[in-house]
Amino acid sequence: LLMAYDPAKRLARLQVSLERAVVNARMIYEILDLKPRQADLADARPLAVSDATIAFNGVHFGYSETETILKGVSFTAEGGRTTALVGPSGAGKSTVINLIPRFYDPAEGEILIDGQDIAHVTKQSLRNAIAYVSQQPYLFEGTIRDNIRYGRPDATDGEIEEAARHAYAHDFILAQPLGYDTPVGENGVTLSGGQRQRLSIARALVRNAPILLLDEATSALDTESEQAVQKALDEAMSGRTVVVIAHRLSTIVRADKIIVMQDGKVAEEGTHEALAGRENGLYARLNSLQAPAGSTGK
Ligand code: ADP
Ligand code: MG
Repeated sequence: LLMAYDPAKRLARLQVSLERAVVNARMIYEILDLKPRQADLADARPLAVSDATIAFNGVHFGYSETETILKGVSFTAEGGRTTALVGPSGAGKSTVINLIPRFYDPAEGEILIDGQDIAHVTKQSLRNAIAYVSQQPYLFEGTIRDNIRYGRPDATDGEIEEAARHAYAHDFILAQPLGYDTPVGENGVTLSGGQRQRLSIARALVRNAPILLLDEATSALDTESEQAVQKALDEAMSGRTVVVIAHRLSTIVRADKIIVMQDGKVAEEGTHEALAGRENGLYARLNSLQAPAGSTGK
């Protein structure tokens, strides 16, 4: 209850505690529905999305008044492209992502989507434009169908199945005892990590939102699952504005733009080729270590 108004933190805690990746539907509702902390501004308008370009302009932010986590972050995530956030653990990558759906508001600076300051748009329209796939996929009590429909409550069965196909989940779903009506959770079937991830991607796909925020999983999957999840993510990312906290070298290398964060600031930005070749660059250093840049991120 102490954290009742801190959905992002609650989600983080949930992720840690979700051994079975099952939580009750009410908690999930609170997290994804993201009941606004403050009412919309009196002049708030619905967000008008064109190419869904996201721009941070001199964003400062701290979780409390006494600390500053983001210290003047500026970058642009181009519409329809993939922007990868990399950097050491604690650099502020997750915090950047938290500000886009307005889990929190900047103390200074602004965040624009297609030129509109998100502080001045209605939260509902903002969040309708965003799908989020977390590092640790969660399922809640209910059927597989319910779990996908959570992404958009008015989705038809046909739309749910289509999302599942694109997420490379349809076949394993049909192989379950009751197909889409198979219960998951406490009293339901147990799904593998890769299967849960694909359901979570299907849930994001059914939203059909122009912006995808992705906290890439670090957990090791078996090779087959990993390939299926990667294909599902490729589908989800295609044609959308993606901001991904990237841990896998393959994601980083393929990103249209890499933002290297360190200590709450953008240390470098560019493509993999440009950054990797930069003498004494942070990315070049991270990249030359055994693990790819950002792989220690949480
Ligand atoms: P990264 O994702 O790059 O590892 P984070 O954005 O998660 O970094 O964290 C940046 C800093 O903000 C860290 O010092 C972390 O401890 C702090 N932090 C993250 N989330 C919260 C929170 N909900 N409340 C207070 N401090 C937080
Ligand atoms: Mg993080």
